[in-house]
Amino acid sequence: MEVNPNSRPHLDLIPLGNLDPLAVSIMGAHLQAVLGLRTQIHPVRSNPEYAFMAMRNQFDASKIIKALATETDGAPFKLGVLQSDLSIPILTYVYGESQLGGKAAVVSLHRLFDIDRQLVYQRAAKIGVHEVGHLLGLEHCWQAGCLMRFSKQLEQLDRLALDFCDACRYEIVRRLKAIS
Ligand SMILES: [Zn+2]
Ligand SMILES: [Zn+2]
Repeated sequence: MEVNPNSRPHLDLIPLGNLDPLAVSIMGAHLQAVLGLRTQIHPVRSNPEYAFMAMRNQFDASKIIKALATETDGAPFKLGVLQSDLSIPILTYVYGESQLGGKAAVVSLHRLFDIDRQLVYQRAAKIGVHEVGHLLGLEHCWQAGCLMRFSKQLEQLDRLALDFCDACRYEIVRRLKAIS
């Protein structure tokens, strides 16, 4: 993603471990297009071993978020992306996790799999934009089709638009103005 050196990026998109680079660029493109966030894609980092839960063969999303949030350099928002499965201790899995109104979020491509690669990219973009919506302070929305609706299953996620309802959109514009 080309970022004008004179305009500081809003968000660092950080691949954690090996994953499809196209999924990351498509996610970055949607963060820019749908949210209007200047997004910088970072070089791939190593797997976040500090967050690995061996008993569950998953990574602890909260630990990754905490680590990303403590980074003081770079953009004010950080979004980690990994291929491996993510969870938080009280749930069996999460597609993504975010600090509401905070600094860092993380998403996983693990459960988005489909033989249709385009569908996987679309799902990844939806999850990424949804989690960053939380970073901007948006809570879950009940409006049909709005990207801030909570999706427990992929069928629910697939029904959502890659866009927000008017109320969420209004809120996003307001928050973005506040941080620019
Ligand atoms: Zn959510
Ligand atoms: Zn909404």
